[in-house]
Amino acid sequence: MKPAPLTCHSPTTLDEAVRLLHDLGPEAKVIAGGQSLVPVLNMRLATPAHLVDITGLPGLDEIRVSAEAVEVGALVTHRRLEQDDAAHAALPLLRQALVNVAHPAIRNRGTTVGSLAHADPNGEMPMILALTGGSVTAASVRGERTITASELFVGPMETVLEPDEILVSARFGRFAEGTRTAFTELTRRSGDYALAGAALALQVSDGQLRTARMGFVSVTELPDALDLTELVAGRPASTSADIAEAVVERVTEHIAPESDIHATADYRRHLTGVLARRLLTELTADIPARGA
Ligand code: FAD
Repeated sequence: MKPAPLTCHSPTTLDEAVRLLHDLGPEAKVIAGGQSLVPVLNMRLATPAHLVDITGLPGLDEIRVSAEAVEVGALVTHRRLEQDDAAHAALPLLRQALVNVAHPAIRNRGTTVGSLAHADPNGEMPMILALTGGSVTAASVRGERTITASELFVGPMETVLEPDEILVSARFGRFAEGTRTAFTELTRRSGDYALAGAALALQVSDGQLRTARMGFVSVTELPDALDLTELVAGRPASTSADIAEAVVERVTEHIAPESDIHATADYRRHLTGVLARRLLTELTADIPARGA
């Protein structure tokens, strides 16, 4: 199918873009990489009268690494972020997750910030924003505002963004010293959306577990992060197998998977427990028992 007739606008400054969105009203939609929006338009699941193409806006294609965060401009593609060595050194979880987003051809056009605006709980990057305690910056004719990940996502594919706001950047928070991270997911075919996925940020020092946060893909209503610190704090890393049961129990209580043509909710729940256990093992396997 093809999209319903629409008018495409190509502003050349951010001011012009936010003014257009404001003046055109809710009949206008932002388009960035088009990797989620174009299929939606082609299937006529949305029929906006206007598209505001932001790909010509200057200054939105930067990746900035600071002591606290990796900041990503709205036009940075998944692929560019995945391949950015400074971002990887600062926050390895970005690349660990990004290589699982669709196929390289889609990552070459799709933007990471666009995927946050799309707010699909089956997507990897909304969860990563939540897990890193990140935030986004939105611009409109009223100025700019910062929205934390916990405020941004309010439902599946639903955010607090107003129709006339453009996300100009996202800020993924860096983890504290000694934090190890890993990401894993299961898909029916490489590049598909995950049946279930999870990421773990585990802080370890002196052979002891300190903090733990886990995020999930495709099994929660909203992209969010589960704090598991009280289950792990002060435990020797070498005993992680002993706490795995409690972690799996907490995780399966927290998630709310649904059944669809690919998998039942029960299977997804079981799978997420397996992935959680796997992540814990992966991040502690090389830590010897104290005194060993
Ligand atoms: P667009 O498609 O241009 O826009 C998506 C939505 O976000 C629209 O509603 C648009 O209005 C809004 N938007 C975009 N940018 C902004 C902005 N700066 N400010 C305000 N609103 C904005 N994603 C995954 O996470 N995991 C996958 O496994 C995965 N698999 C895919 C497989 C296929 C076959 C396809 C086609 C896509 C897949 N995707 C997957 C989606 C892909 O990651 C998209 O690139 C991404 O979700 C959206 O980025 P985009 O730049 O293409 O946004």
